[in-house]
Amino acid sequence: MTQRTQVVVIGGGQAGLAAGYHLRRLGTEHVVLDAQAAPGGAWQHMWDSLRLFSPAAYSSLPGRLMPLQEGQPHPDAGHVAAYLADYEERYELPVQHGVQVEAVRDEGRLLRVETDAGVWRARAVINATGTWTRPFLPAVEGRREFAGRQLHTVHYANPAEFAGQRVIVVGGGNSGAQIAADLTGHAEVTWVTRRPPRYLADDIDGRSLFDAATARRRALDEGRPDTGGVASLGDIVAVPPVRAARDAGLLTARAMFTRLTATGAEWADGTRQDAGAVIWATGFRPALAHLAGLGLRGTRGRIATVGTRAADDPRLHFLGYGDWTGPASATLIGVGRTAREAAREIALPIR
Ligand code: FAD
Repeated sequence: MTQRTQVVVIGGGQAGLAAGYHLRRLGTEHVVLDAQAAPGGAWQHMWDSLRLFSPAAYSSLPGRLMPLQEGQPHPDAGHVAAYLADYEERYELPVQHGVQVEAVRDEGRLLRVETDAGVWRARAVINATGTWTRPFLPAVEGRREFAGRQLHTVHYANPAEFAGQRVIVVGGGNSGAQIAADLTGHAEVTWVTRRPPRYLADDIDGRSLFDAATARRRALDEGRPDTGGVASLGDIVAVPPVRAARDAGLLTARAMFTRLTATGAEWADGTRQDAGAVIWATGFRPALAHLAGLGLRGTRGRIATVGTRAADDPRLHFLGYGDWTGPASATLIGVGRTAREAAREIALPIR
């Protein structure tokens, strides 16, 4: 089955929905293809205790404020997934769930999008596939020797299954800090980071992050010195559970170990720590494998872009992922602006 449309949006998480919202406003025919069976993108799979960096009012997609979650100043992941499901329905976005895009190919004037449910041809593609489906594990000596359980952030749900165990949590970002904090009181936690943890100031939330990312982009666009953006503020947002564990002295980090052994980890100075589980909170890479056939330039898992547009193919846009596709494009509050830019560029008549 082959179908024609103006634009195919790949991915129906927050970034894909924001794209759909703006394309619809501009009257541009499109379809959103999403591999997940249900709405909500990555938010369907987060751990139970995860809370947003920001209050609901600062975590909204274009057009509709996220409603408050009763009793939760910072909403949980289930609330965000429900908000995205409602958003999809309210704006009648043409999302097709359960459709995996396998390849995008160059077909002259059009792009050919091959999926497990047929082929679409379109004059533009917005790629909004996120990172959750591509967990990253660093190469560490002895990883295969370790006899305990190893899991990545994507497989962590709650501390109950680790009760009473020794657990090593690897990673100095938000996921690592939040999971280590979540486990304290349930398990004996060793938190390991490559460099000392860098907390953002306690009063910084998602809105400040958006402002910092925007200021950086503006400075770079105007040829002024790099302000450093969000990274200059720190790596870890001090959400209340993280702050509580840190202030209680329960969240102290050790330097990265040099190797895993059959029973645990070993550090450069010869000290060892036994563990029943290692949780790798070591990040993600953009999910871009389906674009391999286009031969686009890129470094370190990123594609070269001008704004949201692929530098090598003006028919292809990217939303989400991180600052390389626009300031705070990976956040709920930030993706709307870049989605509007991408939709406008696509809606312009082809020259
Ligand atoms: P996703 O939500 O991952 O959606 C992408 C969709 O594309 C998925 O449904 C996926 O299945 C689909 N897909 C992928 N490949 C294909 C394919 N080949 N074919 C078809 N479909 C495909 N953000 C905030 O705004 N505020 C916060 O407070 C916040 N807190 C966070 C805390 C933590 C600890 C973490 C880890 C993240 C947090 N984030 C926060 C970031 C946020 O979770 C992600 O950036 C967000 O989910 C990204 O949205 P997305 O639409 O780009 O990707």
